[in-house]
Amino acid sequence: MELSRRGFLKATTIGGAVALGFDLSHTRAEMRALKVSRTTETRSICPYCAVSCGVIIHTLGDRSKNAVSSVVHIEGDPDSPISRGSLCPKGITLKDDITRASRLTTPKVRLPGSDKWEDISWNDAIARIARHIKTTRDRCFVATNAKGQVVNRNPGMAWIGGCTDTNEFNFLQWKAISGLGVPYRDSQARV
Ligand code: SF4
Repeated sequence: MELSRRGFLKATTIGGAVALGFDLSHTRAEMRALKVSRTTETRSICPYCAVSCGVIIHTLGDRSKNAVSSVVHIEGDPDSPISRGSLCPKGITLKDDITRASRLTTPKVRLPGSDKWEDISWNDAIARIARHIKTTRDRCFVATNAKGQVVNRNPGMAWIGGCTDTNEFNFLQWKAISGLGVPYRDSQARV
């Protein structure tokens, strides 16, 4: 009889356990339980490209106040109508992008004349961005074109969205930046 290496190991392991009188039913049941059986699942979208494949992020930790959650596994979301559970080689490495030590977790600023980036708070970052938007709009705003027609545009700014932006988010951001007169707009998903 032909016996593969895998078959040999399986047969000798089970045979040995039976011969010694072990009950393997619990072991088999535990083996069938996936390593993600105790994780919290969070559905999200791969941030790498405009395909926007669905992902399930598995997190360990009970999310109580003093617990630090950790991402232990990421897989394709079979319920995603876009990707149906598939991830390309780039998307399948997403866990390492989240957990790597060099990942940026705070906003940074490089001040005028400085040669280095410095951490700032989110409140500080948002206040600085708002100030830059106001200053640029005041400086670049064009109310009428050469023919005297009202255009109310702000050619000093452009806006780019990300691939994880939903249609609804894009609708809202288009509304917001239209109010600022920004004429140059795009999003990675071109929606
Ligand atoms: S898994 Fe690959 S194809 Fe899908 S969104 Fe991510 S990078 Fe793009």
